[in-house]
Amino acid sequence: MLAAAAVIGIFGLAVGSFLNVCIARLPEGKSLWWPGSACPLCGAAIGWRDNVPVLSYFALRGRCRACGGPIAWRYPLVEVVTAGLFVLTFLRLGWTPDLPIGLALVAALIAITGIDLLHQIIPDVITVPGILLGFLANSLAGRVSWLDSVLGILAGGGIFFVIIFVSKGGMGGGDMKLGAMLGAFLGWKVALISLLIAVLSGGGVAAVLLLTRARGRKDPVPFGPFLALGGLAGLLWGETLLAWYVGSFGR
Ligand SMILES: [Zn+2]
Repeated sequence: MLAAAAVIGIFGLAVGSFLNVCIARLPEGKSLWWPGSACPLCGAAIGWRDNVPVLSYFALRGRCRACGGPIAWRYPLVEVVTAGLFVLTFLRLGWTPDLPIGLALVAALIAITGIDLLHQIIPDVITVPGILLGFLANSLAGRVSWLDSVLGILAGGGIFFVIIFVSKGGMGGGDMKLGAMLGAFLGWKVALISLLIAVLSGGGVAAVLLLTRARGRKDPVPFGPFLALGGLAGLLWGETLLAWYVGSFGR
């Protein structure tokens, strides 16, 4: 178990390194595969020795070998977070067909969070294939039935469709597609729990930012990271949360 968790963790570091490339390049429409990694400040190519997840960052003391410019701390952070969440997902799901499906969802949610925080967009190139992948993977091998997945897409996307319609643009189409993607992966019941967690956590953080005047009333607070948080909680503890919610309020 420990050895397996270590293997999953190392796999997570490698995936996290790839997610850093996605976060940096997807919003700009650049290729993920070519050219290889380069310093954004001086353009020097980064060799494999300086591209080892987490370790290289500390070996280089957070500075580019060529120009000495700072390397963003989000690079090791994304790698460590991906490794940690991959291990957590493995501990929750075990060696089941649900594990690769869960890891794919976690990876997508990390990339979406990074991109939304940096660029205030939730890219279709992740969510649209994500909707399809969630539905297909669940239909073939997952614990969520194909019907539950379809209802999840309709419920997760539909709620945002109504919000966008009523508020005339209070939420974006990116949020709607992410809601549909969570539904495809998690099924409609757990997806609704995820949306509830997103609304509660997002509302709480927005209230704190307003009260501490860290943000003004007009400043947008990206909702994607909170949807990602809700989706993660739904993936890892969805059934438990659902049982608790129905037990507390469903009578
Ligand atoms: Zn440089």
